Amino acid sequence: MSQASESSVADTSVDAGRLEALLTRVDEASTLYESSVRRQDDALFALARVSGAKHLAVLGASPPAFDIAASIDDGRRTLFLCPCTAENARQLRSRFPWAAPTPLGRTTAIGCGDRLGLATPGHIRACRETGAVPVLAQQSIREMERTSRSPQEVLDDVTWAVFREGYTAGYGADADHLKSEADIDACLAAGYTMYTIDPSDHVQNDADHLEGEKLTSRFRALPWDALGTTPADCLDRYTGAPISVGDGERSLEVEFSPTSLKRAAVKYGAALSHTRALAEYLAEAYRAHRPGEDYDLEMSVDETDTPTRPREHYFVAAELNRLGVEVTSLAPRFVGDFEKGIDYRGDLDAFEDAFRAHATIARSQGGYKLSIHSGSDKFSVYPILGTHAGAHLHLKTAGTSFLEALRIPARHAPDLFREMVEYAFDRFEDDRKTYHVTTNLDAIPAPADVPDPALEATYLEDNNGRQLLHITYGSLLAGDETTSSFRERLFALLNEHEEEHYEVLRLHFVAHIETVGEMTVHERAGPASS
Ligand code: ZN
Repeated sequence: MSQASESSVADTSVDAGRLEALLTRVDEASTLYESSVRRQDDALFALARVSGAKHLAVLGASPPAFDIAASIDDGRRTLFLCPCTAENARQLRSRFPWAAPTPLGRTTAIGCGDRLGLATPGHIRACRETGAVPVLAQQSIREMERTSRSPQEVLDDVTWAVFREGYTAGYGADADHLKSEADIDACLAAGYTMYTIDPSDHVQNDADHLEGEKLTSRFRALPWDALGTTPADCLDRYTGAPISVGDGERSLEVEFSPTSLKRAAVKYGAALSHTRALAEYLAEAYRAHRPGEDYDLEMSVDETDTPTRPREHYFVAAELNRLGVEVTSLAPRFVGDFEKGIDYRGDLDAFEDAFRAHATIARSQGGYKLSIHSGSDKFSVYPILGTHAGAHLHLKTAGTSFLEALRIPARHAPDLFREMVEYAFDRFEDDRKTYHVTTNLDAIPAPADVPDPALEATYLEDNNGRQLLHITYGSLLAGDETTSSFRERLFALLNEHEEEHYEVLRLHFVAHIETVGEMTVHERAGPASS
């Protein structure tokens, strides 16, 4: 870690002028990102776009410890241009520790998944304005496979954007939906600080319908050795008398009959043992490779067929405690539908009753955060989340940033946008298989019938249109023969209109954070003046 003296743009303006002059000599059309300019010791560091690509620009007397692509001097000092490579991102994180992710513990946070690697400045601006704490790198293994990005690329894109914005307040990096040791290895090596273990392949979704001897034999067949207990002890621990959870106004009673206990154990027992095994693997890997470092751990069972009842949540939490697995957040599957990219569908009163109980359980079983997956665009439930768990919340968003980015082609490149919508129609039936959505394709007009000024509203303000484009992101971004032109044209367009892209994201995320309400932790910085 660098102990060097460091300062931001305010007292560096004189040298920044010289840096800009040198940049212009390399490329007349170069852009210096002013919010990135920082002085450390005798050198000035900034992010700049030069010859169409982002570079770290360093103005100093001697070559910095970065890989250097080019240099130019004005007789007094030299400007070194360093490409945005993985190695240089690593160097940057070590020189400016605030550019590296950090564990957030139980601090309420918003996960800002970004499938393009271009959205982070918009996320940062929303968090600066509201005081929310962001998890800026957040991709599931599935998302990275679909978008052909590695865990390292995701984290490096965020690193450069954090530096670009001069965002020193700290952020998290969530390796989401990890299912295997290999998933953990890749994300640990890349430098993630939060690990979301997803044992949903081990959840027995049919448990609710088991009865009698069938239920009992499945209960007996659980991996009891790995769980470090016996069927009899497990029954003893939970049945017999109601268990009171929490205290005061928000306390509740959880009650198990032998049948309901066996069902909860069958549903989640193997998932608990898998979670414990991966959690121990992760702890061991940290001891070996990143000794002394802390990290956040989540268990997510949001991708199951049936909602997690509060009683079942209590069972999972109590078992995690018994097994010594300490989580910073836990994601139950909530009642109602959390479909991708659109508002909550379901009974809000039923949701609030269940959510209140989940929040009480989380508070009493260790004070971990409740994690809300597919959390974007659920405006009708946000006030409920804020009221009952605002101080202990982890709201994850992912595809919504991709949808916001599509406003730019809808406004500025209608032909590209129409081609993408056409392709999404072709791909939808295949791509929807891994999602639970109620999209009605027949209700979406064909792009040829929609006039330019109506494209944005027709596809991006309408539930069916949003889901059409949300579900097919992997196909649209796959970069194969058909779609590589989408990718290239979309990226070029977003770079051309980058401030407008960040602005649509800022507005969208401020709306999310402010509707939840109680999720701001930092001092509010107010809107950026630049
Ligand atoms: Zn999830």
